[in-house]
Amino acid sequence: MRVNILLACTVCKRRNYSTQKNKKKTTGRLEIKKYCPWDRKHTVHRETR
Ligand SMILES: [Zn+2]
Repeated sequence: MRVNILLACTVCKRRNYSTQKNKKKTTGRLEIKKYCPWDRKHTVHRETR
């Protein structure tokens, strides 16, 4: 079971990525390190809705 989510940068709060997650595997909030073009570095991106 997959749901579409948005990933928002925790530094600048911008939503940079859309992805999918597996509801069964991922419990709670998803956090991924991704490159933020606004901060020009890798930051932690968190799931939003
Ligand atoms: Zn950012």
